[in-house]
Amino acid sequence: MTTIVSLHAHPDDEALLTGGWLAQRAAAGDRVVIIFATDGNAELASTDSRCVATLGHRRRAEASESARALGVARVRWLGHADSGMAGSPSALPDRFVHVPLERAARAVAAVLDEEDADVLTGYDANGGYGHPDHVHVHRVARRAQQLAARRPRLLEATMDRTWLVRLLRVVRPFRGLLPGVSIPGDDIFTEPSALLMRIDVRDDLDAKLAALAAHHTQATGGVRTIRLLLALPRPLARQVLGTEWFTEVRHD
Ligand SMILES: [Zn+2]
Repeated sequence: MTTIVSLHAHPDDEALLTGGWLAQRAAAGDRVVIIFATDGNAELASTDSRCVATLGHRRRAEASESARALGVARVRWLGHADSGMAGSPSALPDRFVHVPLERAARAVAAVLDEEDADVLTGYDANGGYGHPDHVHVHRVARRAQQLAARRPRLLEATMDRTWLVRLLRVVRPFRGLLPGVSIPGDDIFTEPSALLMRIDVRDDLDAKLAALAAHHTQATGGVRTIRLLLALPRPLARQVLGTEWFTEVRHD
């Protein structure tokens, strides 16, 4: 049995970026543990502490439901606040991006040691599409790998940039129909030549979709990526959600 610890910035990232692979590994008998850095509570106009606590509480419950759908054995919360996007930072105290690297990495390494983990997953150097919390996950995972008593393999969840940009170009003409959906530039995720692992998760699509659907607050109201993904006809869902990508970080 392999023990996998998967570090994520916000609830729903585990499903979007790694859900198929985690479900695949759990079904094969591996122990899967997810660590969330934040409870994804930045999307509020108000910083009223009761509203923030309520959304955080709901998103934690949703993450537990997602974890059950994926077969995850344990969920651990680091308990920091969502930092918000670079252009619109959240006003919450204890934003993850401000947590010193060493402190955050020690908290992750403690879980790696408790679990005697074989594999750790983080994010690519661009933090995917550049969210400050995702970039911080990249740094924290790299440092946590070094701090662990037994150094795990480090896989960085990413996407094939060429594939994604091509997909987004298809969507671009419909941008007017999708207010609020921003089409990122070409400097996101990872170029295909650097991708080490391209994993076919089409057989794990039911678990991945169930995990995505568990994030109710992200799937309702306004225009939401998750809502759009859940509305895709099955053949398109297999194309859009049926592959996951990782790069492996090698040492010395
Ligand atoms: Zn995120």
